[in-house]
Amino acid sequence: MKNKIRIAIDGPSGAGKSTIAKRVAKELGIDYIDTGAMYRAVAYKVLHNQIDLNDVESIKKMLSETNIDFINGNIILDDEIINDKIRTHEISRMASDVSALQVVRDKLVALQRKMGQHKSVVMDGRDIGTNVLIDAEYKFFVTATASERARRRWLELLEKDEKVDLKQVEADIIDRDNNDSMRELNPLRKAEDAIELDTTGMTIEEVTDEILEVIKWQS
Ligand code: C5P
Repeated sequence: MKNKIRIAIDGPSGAGKSTIAKRVAKELGIDYIDTGAMYRAVAYKVLHNQIDLNDVESIKKMLSETNIDFINGNIILDDEIINDKIRTHEISRMASDVSALQVVRDKLVALQRKMGQHKSVVMDGRDIGTNVLIDAEYKFFVTATASERARRRWLELLEKDEKVDLKQVEADIIDRDNNDSMRELNPLRKAEDAIELDTTGMTIEEVTDEILEVIKWQS
């Protein structure tokens, strides 16, 4: 394998990116960076501090006093492990909103680039192949139909005892897709040099194997 590899995995909400990215990282023995969790962490803090999203100055101040890191697979916000707290329906919506703000993207993209600077990483998100790690050795764009993605997310929420209506989850997913693809700053789109994988009807194992196959084949 090449000395340092950076693997970018982008795609819409609920396409299975993080499960796939985590497995690929484990197989290769390299770090996994979940950039969506970083936007969720900011959303969590904004909500907690009851900051108005139009109040850019307060958000800037909050960000200057914010530390986000990954330690042993946990996401840490200012010394607190927030893994489960950021996986709610409310935070999903808020994360999509905060991610459209320039101040938030500037801070998180700089942090993400730093994380991928000196070591091999698998990074997943929306703009990794097109913006954060533009020269990543491998780029994948993982998709699935909106109804399949909604079903997966719904099952995930159900497992955590969050009872929400499947139709509502699908409507939210479509809404977030629109938000993420239509926003001005680093919208969700496939990098020209990314390999597209439609995971509808595929298992996580199948997608992971396909990605590992590409990496092995090109190394
Ligand atoms: O991937 P996940 O659903 O956890 O991401 C939460 C939100 O963060 C997304 O809806 C998207 O708006 C935003 N995001 C982003 N850029 C990234 C990763 C996530 O804008 N690289």
